[in-house]
Amino acid sequence: MLDRRPIVGGNWKMNMTRDGANRLCHSLLVRATESKINTEIILYPPYVWLTDVADILSESFIKLGAQDGLAESNGAITGGVSLTMLSELVDGLLVGHSERRNIFEETADKFSQQLIAALGIGLLTTYCVGENQKEQEAGLTYQVLEKQISSVFEGATGQQLSQLVNAKPAALVIAYEPVWAIGTGLVAHVTDVQERAVFIRNEISKYCNVSQLVRIQYGGSVNQKNASELAALEDVDGALVGGASLDSEEFASICAAFSTGSR
Ligand code: PEP
Repeated sequence: MLDRRPIVGGNWKMNMTRDGANRLCHSLLVRATESKINTEIILYPPYVWLTDVADILSESFIKLGAQDGLAESNGAITGGVSLTMLSELVDGLLVGHSERRNIFEETADKFSQQLIAALGIGLLTTYCVGENQKEQEAGLTYQVLEKQISSVFEGATGQQLSQLVNAKPAALVIAYEPVWAIGTGLVAHVTDVQERAVFIRNEISKYCNVSQLVRIQYGGSVNQKNASELAALEDVDGALVGGASLDSEEFASICAAFSTGSR
């Protein structure tokens, strides 16, 4: 395996009270430190708990990320939070999550601006791609992945993105998340996950000469039982975890499965 440090993200989505967020974060920090996990870990709490979690994680090796953020740096956008603002608090950003695509009807235009802005200010940026159930059943998985990648890498803005990735490949993570596997308890077959990771890497290589250094995560009902099998896949460099990231014991086990010594 090339020099790609495994990375596990915990996407808390719109969950957790303030007290719950504090307790979860404390408990995870203790577990991750005690078990000497060397996986890169990044947590994505809701905006309102970012400062609390930032305080707990300060001086720790666990990184903090935002679930969304605007590329515009400031202005008359009521309710908006810019990446420039967030960068004072967080290390990373999630872009293109299927819930942003489906619930908020966000599209490639926003994602490409976010990717450029986030990578431009040095954030660890995770771009989520994946087919939905209908697309999977229609045999369109590879076409969907190809489109989701080309839509941010093509054109003038795509060239900017390629330059940023070529300059710092470890700052871009692609999360392959079949939508039908998110929060459903269904997990893609490991053979498919490996094949799709290779496909994604090949697609990236059309636009960047560092695709071997870009990390690819799998996301979709990852838990402590299936993590080791996924961690053993050659082209899978980590996981993006939703539900199971709300339990510190389970999330720590997933991170341990991706720890370099265990793979
Ligand atoms: C996610 O939201 O990115 C996700 C993978 O969720 P879950 O682990 O709950 O399927």
